[in-house]
Amino acid sequence: MAAWIAPTSKAGVPVAVTPKPTSERTDLYVCTGCGIGEAVDADRLAALGNTELKHPGTVAGPLCIPEGLAALRDGLVGSEADRVVIAACSERVNHDVFSPASLGVNMVGRVNIRELVAWSKPPGEHETQLLAEDYVRMGIQRLLWSRKPDRQERDIETALLVVGGGISGLTAALEAANAGHDVHLVERRAELGGWTARFAQLFPTRPPYRELEPVRIDELIDAVVAHPRITVHTGAEITAVAGEPGGLEVTLDQGGTRTDFSAGAVVMATGWQPDLSVIERLGVGDLPDVVTNVAFEEMARSGALVRPSDGAPVKRVAIVTRPRAGLGPSGNGSGNGADGRATDDDFSFGTNVLDMASLKHALYATEAGARAYVIYEDMVTPGLYESFYRRVSEQPGVYFTNGRVKGIEADGAGGLLVRLGHSLLGEDVGLPVDLVVLAAGMVPSTAGSDVLHLMYLQGPGLPTAKFGFSDSNFICFPYETRRTGIYAAGTVREPMDGAFAAEDATGAALKALQSLELFGSGRSTHPRSGDLSLPATRYQGCTRCGRCSQECPFSAIELDERGFPALNPERCRRCGICMGACPVQVISFEDYSVDQLSATVKAIDFGSDKDIPRIVALACENDAYPAFDLAGINRLGFDAAVRVVPLRCLGSLNVAVVADALSSGIDGMMLMGCKSGDDYQCHFIQGSALAAKRLGNVMETLNRLTIEPERVLPVEIEISEYDRIPEIVGDFVETVRKLGSNPYKF
Ligand code: SF4
Ligand code: SF4
Repeated sequence: MAAWIAPTSKAGVPVAVTPKPTSERTDLYVCTGCGIGEAVDADRLAALGNTELKHPGTVAGPLCIPEGLAALRDGLVGSEADRVVIAACSERVNHDVFSPASLGVNMVGRVNIRELVAWSKPPGEHETQLLAEDYVRMGIQRLLWSRKPDRQERDIETALLVVGGGISGLTAALEAANAGHDVHLVERRAELGGWTARFAQLFPTRPPYRELEPVRIDELIDAVVAHPRITVHTGAEITAVAGEPGGLEVTLDQGGTRTDFSAGAVVMATGWQPDLSVIERLGVGDLPDVVTNVAFEEMARSGALVRPSDGAPVKRVAIVTRPRAGLGPSGNGSGNGADGRATDDDFSFGTNVLDMASLKHALYATEAGARAYVIYEDMVTPGLYESFYRRVSEQPGVYFTNGRVKGIEADGAGGLLVRLGHSLLGEDVGLPVDLVVLAAGMVPSTAGSDVLHLMYLQGPGLPTAKFGFSDSNFICFPYETRRTGIYAAGTVREPMDGAFAAEDATGAALKALQSLELFGSGRSTHPRSGDLSLPATRYQGCTRCGRCSQECPFSAIELDERGFPALNPERCRRCGICMGACPVQVISFEDYSVDQLSATVKAIDFGSDKDIPRIVALACENDAYPAFDLAGINRLGFDAAVRVVPLRCLGSLNVAVVADALSSGIDGMMLMGCKSGDDYQCHFIQGSALAAKRLGNVMETLNRLTIEPERVLPVEIEISEYDRIPEIVGDFVETVRKLGSNPYKF
């Protein structure tokens, strides 16, 4: 497979030329469909071509219908245009219809006068018209300051490295091999099969989802071992992974023997390990007849449900789902938070898998002739697993008890007493049993260890989230990790059972193979999938501060021996955060740069009445900009004083753009990004957080310019909050009106 070659200087550093506007022939078309023609004077918009492009634009009917598209194509052929600006609907729709390939031009610029103007402003009003004219001018500048990204191709490695020989790893390996890729499957244990091979029975996977199923992992192992494209390395540890996706160099240690091979991408399927941190407080490890659910599973597999203390058959067993230690994060002994309400902080991982395991264990116990008391606070059996819950609840000998375990102690007669806060009785009760099974938490087996030993500047491990699960955007890209080309499958990314893990592995393997296709054609992987642009450094201006390297969320920038940034193109996700980070603004993309953003903002015309505010919303294209679109689609009007400019990520915003805009007379700026924090929604991990950090620098600049800091408003918003747009915009416009006109507005 082929991949592209990064542009490099003779010093080996990616080079950017100083951005400047194009001289290519650029045409302007104004669509009058979808209510645009009724909302604005399209002739006046088209006439802007005279001043901005040296020739008039064209007013057209609906451009997206076959007749409109045919006329557009004919017009572009007739004028021999290299580029075209289309003032119509949002750039988030009709991608294929208005793509360069569809229109036969090098580049297409989209100007959103439908959602942001016609659908969200009063038709025919003066301010509505001025807004549309600004958007057309801004869109023209945005395109003029863009160059078409150009990449060359070269061969890349298409083999896959799969780490972990459990159900996820085996499935991922088989899927990739069946798709025609060579696979190296690495397992640190001597045998394949993972946890599944150690289980007695599995959850139901077939209708009517009521009965447990036998373990058939051997069939999967046999298929993997026999596959001609799969090389299995058992008893092996990875000691180093170097390079970049498409050509990773992997080194293994297999009992003292070194093995080297190349891989294009990686599926991490390293599985889980029990977490005892909570249940140790309830007696696991101290009382021999208090065991984990893992130990109970192994007892069931061995066929001997007996008490560890004396080997007596188990008659009464308490099975505790997701036990809390009776402490709670407040440490007040109630198991509740400081506000007195129940909290999951004591045991917030495992959830439905542990509940299903408890139900399974209740069946094991009763089928062995014991009584099973399932003690739960809440029970989560998603989807068709509800049928299994019903089946277990109908099983003679199974008793469900709603309450919280407060303690477990020896009863002095060889048995155990479970002290229980009974929810229905509203009082503490004692439950005599001869065995207690406590569900252990599920955390990744990689928690606290590096496994891949990446030879990356930002460290050898995969960045992790809470409890050690691989860090990724939890909503949009479940398989992605923060290292490009490395995908997480199964319980390394969240607790799940074997059936889910197998499906998950299929998804992760397909993502890995898809990434190889993208690397091969020089395109970005998710979320800017297909993007050909790349950040490049004008290294003559680089001060070697290293900030771009530190802030890159994906460890795509190393430093060369002289301290200059050295891009690993295949690791790059094109977020632009390095561009936002650079204090001397020497990083730019072919079609996205500080100069381009500044030129776009400066295209805004202040008009004759300087008291009417002109405000710019720099909006992340992933959530904030779509929220504006959705406000328009839902016909929610918002103030015409605001001009929205899309950003790749709020983290890509260089504070120079803000300072430049405000010192040019823009009355106010809204910096709009995704939610930050533990449950961040930023597609590039920490865009909003980085922007907030950099905002301090803006404030210093504003002070120096004697511009009120209230003229800059950071906003975190998610797409579903589009109905907040009118209020957020309205409040800020009001604030700016009270501040009065920007003193730099001429
Ligand atoms: S910060 Fe983003 S655009 Fe810059 S090198 Fe890293 S991944 Fe690429
Ligand atoms: S952030 Fe620092 S090291 Fe990176 S390009 Fe800019 S000046 Fe150079």
